[in-house]
Amino acid sequence: MSELPSSPAPAAPAFTLDVIGHIESDYPDKFGIPRQPGLAPAARGRLRLDPPFDDPLTVRGLEAFSHLWLTFVFHESPTRWTPLVRPPRLGGNAKVGVFASRSTHRPNRLGLSLVELAGIDTTRGVALELRGHDLLDGTPVLDIKPYLPWVESRPDALAGFAPDAPPHYRVVFTCEAESRLAERADRLSLRALIEQVLAQDPRPAYRRGAEARVYGVRLRDVDVRFHVVDDAGTPVMEVLAIVALDP
Ligand code: SAM
Repeated sequence: MSELPSSPAPAAPAFTLDVIGHIESDYPDKFGIPRQPGLAPAARGRLRLDPPFDDPLTVRGLEAFSHLWLTFVFHESPTRWTPLVRPPRLGGNAKVGVFASRSTHRPNRLGLSLVELAGIDTTRGVALELRGHDLLDGTPVLDIKPYLPWVESRPDALAGFAPDAPPHYRVVFTCEAESRLAERADRLSLRALIEQVLAQDPRPAYRRGAEARVYGVRLRDVDVRFHVVDDAGTPVMEVLAIVALDP
């Protein structure tokens, strides 16, 4: 008896998703954004909901939760993806499966971040004040869910090639940078943000240790110029200048 021709697999249904809002963030560029939320708790952000999702009824009761899951789109990542990626945590050389990583280059370009909810403003639509996020300014958000620690916190879980937080480096400021900071009304929170972001060593994974090169990372409305010096074999991030960006 002849084999019946196998019919081609039906095309996977595609789903259209609505963007419910956009992020206003301390991070105007991808460079410098910590690789996970919570690594720079001083990072400020605002999720402004778009109509029709900006009805205050949609967030009734949310104020009773301290943390939120945000599902968003890596809108500044290419749509093209590859089965293997090079996590920065592995030095940018070793490869793992895209689904074994939190890479920004992935099918559907979906991201998931656990962020702190610092406040809710419903005077004009809905805006959620966020802290400690890892989101680029302008990021489109698809969903918000309250975090449930009793079911979602698994401190004993295995975490593969990323078993704990990345290393943390010392950050120092030159007198020039100190005096720029001293002029600002937000000097305390901006200092904390600069320290927390640079402590992650935002340079590409293949650049490690002290080097002469000066880097610039844009945070809030400033360009932070820094280089990496050696202190008895330990890299130290030295802030050379804090330059106000043109509005
Ligand atoms: N916590 C999320 C996750 O696990 O899905 C994001 C992790 S991903 C490694 C964090 C990086 O995403 C940041 O360092 C930043 O460079 C990048 N990023 C943040 N927002 C983005 C956006 N809208 N488009 C493209 N890349 C973005």
